[in-house]
Amino acid sequence: MPPKKYTAFHESAPYDRIAKHRASDASDVRRYVGITCPHCDTLFVEIPLDSLSTNKASECKKHLLQCTAAAEQGVHVEPAKRKRPVEATVASTDLSSLQLRERLVEKDGELAAKSAENSRLITSNDGLRGRVSTLETQMAQLCAEMDQLRPLVPLVQRITGELGLRASVPPAASIDAYVEKIAGLKKAASVASVASVAHTKLKSRADLAAENDRLRSERDEHAVFKRAFHELARDPIFFKHISLSLHPDKRSRIPPEGQTAADVLFAQLQDARKRMV
Ligand SMILES: [Zn+2]
Repeated sequence: MPPKKYTAFHESAPYDRIAKHRASDASDVRRYVGITCPHCDTLFVEIPLDSLSTNKASECKKHLLQCTAAAEQGVHVEPAKRKRPVEATVASTDLSSLQLRERLVEKDGELAAKSAENSRLITSNDGLRGRVSTLETQMAQLCAEMDQLRPLVPLVQRITGELGLRASVPPAASIDAYVEKIAGLKKAASVASVASVAHTKLKSRADLAAENDRLRSERDEHAVFKRAFHELARDPIFFKHISLSLHPDKRSRIPPEGQTAADVLFAQLQDARKRMV
């Protein structure tokens, strides 16, 4: 029991009245004690008799804080200090429980993240396992293919040798090396075929030479004829007769297909005549 304070605050004799709080009806009567302030001589509160010992001090203090008569008489009352630490404790308890709750929420978040990460890892692990098994399948296929290819190795070695590729088997030369070599061979083959065409042309060039010889001999014959014609043209009678025969105004007797030859001969005749002068 705390020491009894505020003894100067007069307590009335207990009396019955309708309950001040939560009275169900007029018959809800409780026993009260009225407290009177010694400074302003006012009955300022009615306290239920059963809570008088616990509530009197706080009610008196509450009154003193607003009692002008007490203040005028120099009564100073410090605001209740007991409540503060209690409130503070409650507050700090609340705070720490709030913090705890926040931490729990954080932990929940972390756990959820970890769980998500875990399931991601499991998925990724499953994925890796799948890839490994795929790789194993591929390796088995490659091994089977290698077994099939192995008899071809001597052949590839032979081809590599023939192509002048340095690589042995294994490792085989890169596909590009083969492709380039074959492209080169194709080009060489096409050059060879061009050469053979040229050779064909050379063959026909021999024919041309023969043709040339023939033309050359014709030219020579023509030269002989021309020389003879020019010699004959020196004779005035020959010149006169031939001129009459070949002159463009006098050769209506000559058929159209002979006109060109007549032109040529007449020009030759004129030429021979000029040389004579
Ligand atoms: Zn008072």
